[in-house]
Amino acid sequence: MAQNSFTQHCRQEAETAALAQKLALSLSHLFQTNQSAHLNISLEGDLGAGKTTFARHLIQALGYEGRVKSPTYTLCEPYPIQINSSNPSTPNLIAHHFDLYRMRDPLEWQEAGFAEHFDEPGFCLVEWPEKAEGTLPAFDIEIRLLADDVEDARNISLHANSSRGMVVIEKMHGTKDE
Ligand code: ADP
Ligand code: MG
Repeated sequence: MAQNSFTQHCRQEAETAALAQKLALSLSHLFQTNQSAHLNISLEGDLGAGKTTFARHLIQALGYEGRVKSPTYTLCEPYPIQINSSNPSTPNLIAHHFDLYRMRDPLEWQEAGFAEHFDEPGFCLVEWPEKAEGTLPAFDIEIRLLADDVEDARNISLHANSSRGMVVIEKMHGTKDE
């Protein structure tokens, strides 16, 4: 049976990091077989749920060594990612990390010229997609983070909405924990 969701209870940030690494592994596999692929991924959850933390672990698990800061004020931060570091001639992908919380208008992301990022090779990670009020391109994967009664625990679920997203989620079911 096709599995289009992946849910995990993460008792602490290290477990959230491990889940982000599992997603990173699956994404690298996709980009190794299709270097021009693009994925849109949403990150939903209340303030402090861990959206930026998840994005940071994901981008760093893909080999980005610099700082991953919250794009709260800039709306968007780009991160170059080299999927196959043993072969430097492979082109870089770009991860664009958005935080739309501070948009004053649902279309501000378009006015800022960000629309082109939504089909460049790589992926977009979008915090607070609801602020765009349905004007963003469709999401291949939706990630929801929910705080638990226990401090530091989060319930995190990933849901695929497209065939490309499904390939990524199915692969996660097939990978063992590192
Ligand atoms: P958001 O972007 O959703 O507003 P942040 O990622 O900025 O949230 O903040 C989440 C905070 O919660 C961070 O300080 C992080 O260290 C902390 N945290 C504690 N436990 C977890 C966990 N299991 N997963 C993610 N973050 C966690
Ligand atoms: Mg955030």
